Amino acid sequence: MSSERNASGRQSAYSVVLCRGMRSCSFGLVDLEPIRAAIETVIADSPWNAYVESARGGRFRPHERLRIALSACPNGCSQPQIQDIGLIAALRPREVAAACTGCGLCEATCREAAMLVEDGRAVHRPQACLACGECVRVCPAHAVLCEPLGFRLLLGGRMGRHPVWATELPGLYTQERIPQLFRDLLRVLLRERRPGERPRQVLARLDIQQIEHELGECRYE
Ligand code: SF4
Ligand code: SF4
Ligand code: SF4
Repeated sequence: MSSERNASGRQSAYSVVLCRGMRSCSFGLVDLEPIRAAIETVIADSPWNAYVESARGGRFRPHERLRIALSACPNGCSQPQIQDIGLIAALRPREVAAACTGCGLCEATCREAAMLVEDGRAVHRPQACLACGECVRVCPAHAVLCEPLGFRLLLGGRMGRHPVWATELPGLYTQERIPQLFRDLLRVLLRERRPGERPRQVLARLDIQQIEHELGECRYE
């Protein structure tokens, strides 16, 4: 699903693409519609639309649109890796509780070999984990304890003649802080954008560590 026109039916200066999310996909960790609504409210309250339209004297060009994609699990069906801004929901196991019976369901379910049963108890291997939350869902003993649901943030991906995979920033971003995250990202884009530059060109030019610093308060690990 995507929204590429604004309320008046004109081409929008941004697009938000969603995967199906938890409303209709069993892998979904979160309902993406409220998140989309929150992001669109932030953009509507910002000078972004007016800036993009005025920069071209009212002639809007689709490739100047800010492209955003949200995925409700690491499968990434909305292709957040090739958008200006991508968010991927993440549910990271923190530890396996004593309630674990060693049944092996988590090991059989995990496609990353990140949950292994050793000596009658599941052991989590965080270095291999994609934070899909499947082991949490299948555990009959509710023994897989997790960090709070968060979002991975990817910036600066694109297709075209020279495709680029987005850069993932470290850590996770909370759902509650996503509006602030987008306010901060728009502030950076509007401040740094040179005339005629597309969002992805701005992101490619900027130091990702500097952007990360400006978003720091939205991250929780
Ligand atoms: S990204 Fe995950 S939750 Fe979203 S549609 Fe694909 S498999 Fe389902
Ligand atoms: S599914 Fe749950 S109870 Fe079974 S081995 Fe994994 S953590 Fe332990
Ligand atoms: S969250 Fe997903 S990738 Fe990580 S251990 Fe569980 S099933 Fe495996």
